[in-house]
Amino acid sequence: MNIIDEIKGLFSKRGGSQYGGEAITQQEHALQAAWLAEKADASATLITASLLHDIGHLVHNLPDNAPDSGINDQHEELGVRWLARYFGADVTEPVRLHVAAKRYLCAVEPDYLVALSPASAQSLQLQGGPLSPDEVQSFESSPFLRDAVNLRRWDDKAKKVGLPTPDLAHFLSYTKTVVSDSN
Ligand code: FE
Repeated sequence: MNIIDEIKGLFSKRGGSQYGGEAITQQEHALQAAWLAEKADASATLITASLLHDIGHLVHNLPDNAPDSGINDQHEELGVRWLARYFGADVTEPVRLHVAAKRYLCAVEPDYLVALSPASAQSLQLQGGPLSPDEVQSFESSPFLRDAVNLRRWDDKAKKVGLPTPDLAHFLSYTKTVVSDSN
């Protein structure tokens, strides 16, 4: 099966599951994140990363409400492992860093921390809380800092109940153009 069909299959099987403690589905969240990236004129790789940033939630079998049980599902690492078979670092690194970017923004922008949704504030604790000053410094040296922070901001906004978006096929047209040559 090619990667595009695999992605479609994952969304049709698991995309209807609830997105964390929010009132939307995983697929609605993914499409909204990708749409915000597209509207910001992001590259095809960053639109793809935005669409697939939570694919880790679709490849594990933990319940949607794992954080309620004190479980950090480590979905960013699972997602990266899955994506690295088909995509380069310009897709996988922003995905890997999207949780660290939240911890980073909590450390450097006090307003960001207080504006987190209740579900996001709950998972922050499981993810290790705001980054320490040393961690902030090392995060800022990442060549993917900007992409990861942009993705994070779209991720945070991609929770609008009932918002119409272009469909999955629309965004997969970007994904097709950025699959690694070796695959
Ligand atoms: Fe997300």
